[in-house]
Amino acid sequence: MMSKKPPEDWITQLPAISAIFAAAKRGRAGCCGRSAGGHPLCCIRYGERKLPTHRATYNSAVASGDPGNYRRRAGERPHVLIFAAIHGLELEGTAALMDLVHLLETGEVRGFDPADGQALLRLAESVTMTLIPIANPDGRMRHPELDAMLGLDLEKARYRMQGAWIDGSVAGWPEVKAVHPIVASRIKHLGAYFNDGGINPMHDSFPVLLCPENQALFRLVDAERPDFILSLHGGTNVTNHLVPPTFVPPYVLRHNAAINRALLAWSQKARLPLLDSFAELPADGAVRPGELDSFNLMSALHHYCGAVVLLYECNQGLAVIDTPQLDYAEMRLAHGGLFRVLLEHAVATAGQELRSFGARAGRRAAEP
Ligand SMILES: [Zn+2]
Repeated sequence: MMSKKPPEDWITQLPAISAIFAAAKRGRAGCCGRSAGGHPLCCIRYGERKLPTHRATYNSAVASGDPGNYRRRAGERPHVLIFAAIHGLELEGTAALMDLVHLLETGEVRGFDPADGQALLRLAESVTMTLIPIANPDGRMRHPELDAMLGLDLEKARYRMQGAWIDGSVAGWPEVKAVHPIVASRIKHLGAYFNDGGINPMHDSFPVLLCPENQALFRLVDAERPDFILSLHGGTNVTNHLVPPTFVPPYVLRHNAAINRALLAWSQKARLPLLDSFAELPADGAVRPGELDSFNLMSALHHYCGAVVLLYECNQGLAVIDTPQLDYAEMRLAHGGLFRVLLEHAVATAGQELRSFGARAGRRAAEP
């Protein structure tokens, strides 16, 4: 029976994160906005960012034939943005980002495989990183008594994550998404998916942003113009996997597929399971959205700044029989591998434009 109590250095509390950021020596910490409930969105950046002169919006730069009029050009230092807990209690990624901050601040490997830690330190010399450990602090602060979902049964987990209706019944899919924003008069308990305004930030009213958390995130993205944006989720007891983004150009899927391949190789070596959710996709990434695909936060972020967007689902170690259950150590190891693979990919592809990655030779650019 695995211990339910997280280790001492598993850090997911907002005040603890604020204090660590305030004391940071190497990273540049700040508050990039406030939630609907008034909580700070803490972020920290490692490495310098040399921005192009902002001459165009991203989509205008693309229409000009050169995305470099908005964002990084080939050969410039890559920039990776990673945010966790956009669903407030999906804290596996939060703890892992705090392990990454610890590594970058002290040089000491915590939580990750030592080889991955050393690789991350080397990679940090060539990649700028912006990290947001809790992107939905309202959801997180609704259950400060919890540091993880590990060991909870499915009913208890769903009550905390998705909430409860006015009759006391626990909310679940699809009803929890059928009304949005959540109407206060219909619920007894608001789950951690939502900010204090009842909005699940993944399903904001794109392109019009309703929730202040997303407004802050998009402001930050426009200011920093990252090349890769990784969103970290916990997905009950799924096998860890990357989720293919929707409504993005083929090159974004090609980058995703390459990172997925590298992560599969890493996972095999580390003996941690990874589901290959790209196995069915064509290698050139030329897929059309399915009938029921929608334009979510990750699609919107791509179209706002041109970044390659990635979404990772981690197993949460719930007490559900006959399902895979990771423990704290495995969750941390898995994220260390993910961060390493992503940064290695960012460095390996820094010499070329994002859109030319994996493109078939001789393919002509589209006419304006
Ligand atoms: Zn999630």
